[in-house]
Amino acid sequence: MDCIFCAIIEGKAEAEIVYEDEATVAFMDINPANPGHTLVVPRQHVRDVFDIDEETAAAVMRAAVRVARAIKAALQPDGVNLMQASGPAAFQSVFHFHFHVVPRWWDDSLKLPWRPTPGAPSVIQAAASRIRENIGR
Ligand code: AMP
Ligand code: ZN
Repeated sequence: MDCIFCAIIEGKAEAEIVYEDEATVAFMDINPANPGHTLVVPRQHVRDVFDIDEETAAAVMRAAVRVARAIKAALQPDGVNLMQASGPAAFQSVFHFHFHVVPRWWDDSLKLPWRPTPGAPSVIQAAASRIRENIGR
């Protein structure tokens, strides 16, 4: 399988690794949205949030928390975004699950990708009802 993140995990492709444990690896993004932009990935090749098992997902989140705190201590950002894209429609471009850990500063140029606008309560409630019916399936 041709996966750049698997190649990094196996030491076959270059990366600036900042953290490793038995289940995860974290390395610097080569196209950083801000200085310090880091990716956290499971060692196991899983495609996206629909493919990952809950135990592996928990391990990736634990590593992301550690990385975010290290970024905070190292770079003193004003905040941090954790971002995860699943599916091309959601901006995923590398199909090995990953969290982006992006340090944020008040004066950086990043923008929220949506404009908060009140939704119709009936539409919100209908979506909630369908989600509740499908939780745990
Ligand atoms: P996404 O678009 O959410 O799938 O994010 C994929 C990220 O992987 C992008 O931010 C890329 O800049 C990053 N990326 C792609 N190839 C590499 C690489 N060889 N080393 C580090 N980061 C990479
Ligand atoms: Zn992979």
